[in-house]
Amino acid sequence: LAAPRARMVVANWKMFGNLALCRESLPRLAAAAMESVELVVCPPAPYLGEVGRLASSSGVHYGAQDVAEVTHGARTGEWSADMLAELGCRYAIVGHSERRDRHRECNQTVAVKAAMCIAAGVIPIVCVGETMSDRESGQTEVVLAEQLKAILQLMKKNAMFVLAYEPVWAIGTGLAATPEMAQDVHAFLRRQLALFSSAWAESVTILYGGSVKADNAASLFAMPDIDGGLVGGASLNVNDLLSIYKAA
Ligand code: PGA
Repeated sequence: LAAPRARMVVANWKMFGNLALCRESLPRLAAAAMESVELVVCPPAPYLGEVGRLASSSGVHYGAQDVAEVTHGARTGEWSADMLAELGCRYAIVGHSERRDRHRECNQTVAVKAAMCIAAGVIPIVCVGETMSDRESGQTEVVLAEQLKAILQLMKKNAMFVLAYEPVWAIGTGLAATPEMAQDVHAFLRRQLALFSSAWAESVTILYGGSVKADNAASLFAMPDIDGGLVGGASLNVNDLLSIYKAA
């Protein structure tokens, strides 16, 4: 039998927090981290060194919120997957909707970034998600399949990656998808992965993100294809993050 897929909770601090938050939260997260569910912190890049130092030899993993689509070059303000690997990052988020939207990242760019991570030994957490107008016009599955297709075309079979379903309308709005709504999409995404390889599809962790809170986490994570969460706003409060983590 294949090993069961990893469950995890990923804290996406976005451009919030400071050194004080790193120093307050990491020891508490380290004390709570269990082997059965991975706990991952993605702070703003300037804090990765400090988070790495504080997380070292604890069960907490850490990662970046983005990565460049090339290995090196005259790219002011960017960093490569190799640099993240050197800092001990196990993960990098790629294709977050805030990057797709504000930085005009297209499906192809996101796919290349994911491939860069894999080549460097960093596990990409690839975000996909539809907008409200996609959903209202019945285009959710078409949009998601398109986002996933670009990634799968560049992905080697059996590559380690994490998928995060983040409906754009649920991010930072307090309006999370219902567990049933999210489960439907997660099952759809897993069927899309299965077109590639069914054993591999079963091994891929699929996270839900978008207004995950301490009071809705347990019902979302109880769904069979939801393997944990990608948490923005609520991850900045250590107590809330720990409640969400325990729910996974
Ligand atoms: P949110 O953000 O939890 O604040 O909705 C989730 C995300 O954007 O990753």
